[in-house]
Parts: sequence; structure tokens; C-alpha cells
Amino acid sequence: MKAVLAADALRPETLAEVERRSGQHVRECYQCGKCTAGCPIFSDPDGGDMDLPPNQVMRLLQLGLGETALRSRTIWLCAGCATCTARCPREVDLASVMEALRVMALKEGITPAGLGNIPLFNKLFLKNIRRYGRLYEMELMGKFNMFSLQPFKDFLKAPGLFFKGRLGLLPGFKGRKTGVPAFEDAREARKLERE
Ligand code: SF4
Ligand code: SF4
Repeated sequence: MKAVLAADALRPETLAEVERRSGQHVRECYQCGKCTAGCPIFSDPDGGDMDLPPNQVMRLLQLGLGETALRSRTIWLCAGCATCTARCPREVDLASVMEALRVMALKEGITPAGLGNIPLFNKLFLKNIRRYGRLYEMELMGKFNMFSLQPFKDFLKAPGLFFKGRLGLLPGFKGRKTGVPAFEDAREARKLERE
């Protein structure tokens, strides 16, 4: 992608904000491209549809062109699989950077056209995790269907998933030491890291 460095497009504060929210040092990225080479969405021949390779999102942030990164489809089409994170030789958690950008884009009301219900799903997903500390699929899918105006979407799949134990009627807390929501755990962990 060819980027023009016009003074009025520069938003260096976005870099600081992304680093603060993600806890990552975006400036550590040296553009080796290993993240992009391993990204299953970007390399999907059937049209992953990302408009920027993930490493270029990092470069835009480094150059102060955060606005372009915030407006990209890439941040929304990222599946959060963390393959990029595992491959990065600089130990940059790019999946967290993408998540920080999505949160910032939502906050600023920026959503590129043609994304359908992806931003809605993201918003409901984060709310669900914040509330229960882990995913409560039943509520997530119910709310998603309701707000996306497709109340019976995947309705017939629910009984099969339920009987296979893949869908709980109530939120579960198995595997967690406390009922404290995961976001608070993460906040606490970051605080400890800084001390
Ligand atoms: S793998 Fe890491 S260092 Fe390499 S381009 Fe991606 S984020 Fe940057
Ligand atoms: S977390 Fe997102 S950017 Fe990284 S490899 Fe997965 S889909 Fe690609």
C-alpha cells in the first residue's frame, strides 16, 4: 500500500493510545512481515478481504497514520487467532494491538462500510466477557440475533449443540479461580507488571 504522509493526516497520539490499551510496544516492530505471512485471514485465497496486511497496520501506527489504521477493514476482519503473536520475533502481541484498535474505532464511531454485523458482534462479545469473565454463548447469540434483527438465525442448531454439551443454559465459571471478571484480572495483571 502506498501511503502519503500529509501533515493533516498525522495522528501520532493514536500510537500512544494503542500502546497504552494493548500493553504492547508497537515501535518494536521491525517490519519483518512474519505476522502477515502466517495470518490465515489475509492469506485466505477465498477472499479474507483485509484491505491492509497486518504488518502494514503496525507501520501506519509507527508513522503516525493511526487514522488510516482505525479506518481499515483489516482490524475488523482479524479473527484474533494470535498466530501473528506467536510468530513475531519481537514478541509484539499484534492480536492485542488489533483488539485495541477495534475498541478505539468503536469509541470514535468509526466503522468502515460493508462490514455487516461484525462491529455489533465484537461489541456484544466484549460485553459478554466483561460481564461473566468467560464466554456465555447462549446470551451472546440471543442478543446478537435480536440486535441484528434475525431472531431465528442458527435457531435449529441450538438443540444439537446443547445435547453435545457445547452450549450451556447458564453461564459457567468452571476453570476460573474467582468470579472476578476477566477484564479486572487483566487490569490487575498490568498494574502488577508496571510495579
Ligand atoms: S512479525 Fe512482529 S516484527 Fe514482524 S512485522 Fe509482524 S509485528 Fe512486526
Ligand atoms: S490475530 Fe488477526 S492479524 Fe493476527 S494472524 Fe490472527 S487473524 Fe491475522
